[in-house]
This record gives sequence, C-alpha cells and structure tokens, in this order.
Amino acid sequence: MLEPAAADLFDGQSAVRHPVTLLWQPDGLAVTQADGAAELVPDSDLTLVEHRGDRLVYGHRDRNGWRLLVPVDAPPELLERMPQGFKYGGVIDRLGLIRASVVLGGISAAIVAAVMTAPSWLGPRVPEAWEQRIGSALVGDLQQFTCSTPESDAALAALTRDVDDGKSPITVQLAKIDMVNAVALPGGRVLLFDKLVQEAKSPDELAGVLAHEAGHVRKRHVMQALLRQFGLSILLSGANSDIGGTLGGVAAMGYSRDAEREADEWSRMRLAKADISPAATAAFFGRLRKLDPTAGNKQLSYINSHPDSGEREQAFAKAVQPGKAYRPALTLHQFAALKAACKKDKKAREWSLGWPK
Ligand SMILES: [Zn+2]
Repeated sequence: MLEPAAADLFDGQSAVRHPVTLLWQPDGLAVTQADGAAELVPDSDLTLVEHRGDRLVYGHRDRNGWRLLVPVDAPPELLERMPQGFKYGGVIDRLGLIRASVVLGGISAAIVAAVMTAPSWLGPRVPEAWEQRIGSALVGDLQQFTCSTPESDAALAALTRDVDDGKSPITVQLAKIDMVNAVALPGGRVLLFDKLVQEAKSPDELAGVLAHEAGHVRKRHVMQALLRQFGLSILLSGANSDIGGTLGGVAAMGYSRDAEREADEWSRMRLAKADISPAATAAFFGRLRKLDPTAGNKQLSYINSHPDSGEREQAFAKAVQPGKAYRPALTLHQFAALKAACKKDKKAREWSLGWPK
C-alpha cells in the first residue's frame, strides 16, 4: 500500500512555501495541502526542472513559477513515475547543459553546477547585465505603478546620491503601494512604497531605509535570493522566460540574516559619509517594533521581511556620533514633494493585484 510522501510546493503566485503530500493516482499526481485542499496534476504536465541540493525540483508545463520540491530520498515508488531527465528550458535543452554553459556568456559548467548549492557564492558573480535582463523578464512593466513629479524626482535623485556609491546606476522610484515597505528588485531597481513615505517622520529615516535597499543591490543580495528561490533556471529567464514570478513573489523573497546585517552596515556607512544622522532610522525601527506583526499583509510587510527590529534599532542608535554636525537628508520642500508625488501624479495606478495572501 502506497503512503503519501512529504514535499513542498511553491504555487507561483507567492513566495510562500506550502507543505504538501504527494500520492500517485491512476490519472495523475495528487498534491494535497495541509488544509486538505487537493489537486490532481496529470503526469504530462510535470517537468523536471533541476536537482537542487537534496531536492528534486519539478515544474508545471502551464504554470509559471509553480515548483514542487521533492526530497531525493522520497519513496522510490513515488520518484519512479515522476518525469525523468532535466528540462532546463529551451536553450539548455537544445544544447545540453555543458555546451549551454559555455555558450551562455562563457560561464563554465562548474559554475553552473555550483549554483545548485551555493547561491551566495554565485550571486555576486552573475554579470550585472544578466541581472538587468532577468529583472525585466521577472517583474515586467512596473512603470504604471510608479509616481513621479519633477520635484519628487529631484528629491529622490538627491537621496540616491547620498545612499549609494554610484558605481553603476541604480534606479530608485516611488511606487503607489499602500504598505510600509521598500524593496530591491533585480537589475538595480529600488521601490519606495508610498505608504512608507507617508508614514515617514523625517527624510533621514527614508535615507536609512533607502540606503539599506541600496546595500542589498550593491552586495548582490538580490541575485543570491533569486538563485535560492528559483535555482539555475533563473539565469536563463532572459532567454526563456518560464519563471514568470509576479512582482509580489519577487518582492517577498527573504534575505538571509547575514545579508540583512550587511545591508544595514552599508546603510550606516553611507549615512555617516553623507553626514546624515542614523538616529531617525533607529526611531523608525522602534516604531516598527511596536506595530502589530499580525496586522495587514504579513507576507510583504517590512516587519515580516526584516525581523529583529529591536536589534537593528540598537545598532543604528549606537552609530550616532556625539558632537558630529549632521544635516537633514532633504530640505522640507524636497520631503514635502516626495509626500505629494503619488497624489499629484494622476497617471500612477495603485498596485493592488497579485500580492500574496
Ligand atoms: Zn533588507
């Protein structure tokens, strides 16, 4: 008698990992979630995407981003009927893995193999131009959700100059999203959500949060997180876009604790260089700590993707140098222009669809 086998499912709609059980039925694979919701996936819809660590990763022919992670030591009677042979996507399937690795920008097969186990090693080595292409393939057209006025653009440019080293362009935009958050996206894009700007008590705390996201960009954390979440196939999404993650899925990707710490260090370093006090950012974390973590959209709230507000509050408070002459990150006029941008820009659409529940 067959026993259901445990696995994990990403449904392609959000970054949430659903524990499921799997059991072959005569006409397909029964995938049953913890709440009892079950679905029968026909054999012909399943594809083998990659072997990642101790998991086999399967995709669904018609569903972008749908991923089933099955332990390699799952019962043989389950694995035997799963699709065999890798399907990396068009380019690699046609060329074979080794040849494709050579063809694709001179990346060696050893590096391609390393991605399966070492996203943190490979992430910083992926050419930035690739990340740009992956970014556009993944998050699509975000322009319609961004708010812009000449005054707010100038204010954002001033903030960006302070928080980034300017080695290669990063694009910072305001997004009409009703949530206290900011995200770094592939390709050096950072979105400040309007609600964060509305709730900000001073431009200094916006500088601190923005510098943190710039740190994620500069330390190549975005690429690392993408690799961790989607595996090798992400590198080919420019050529063969079968990842199709939503902005929500990408934005909800979590970073490791080390990555968060590095981004915070970057933030404090940039604030110090720009003579902006870290005190306001400390206060922001203090306010976050008092928010109800169960309220609203947990998946995408800043507090959920950035835990340990208390520890971070202390680190920023400690970075304040007594006696140093700090300056405000923006003039009152610039700060007001940022707050007004999403009301003034009539073309900006409010983002409401596609967030993970
Ligand atoms: Zn972060």
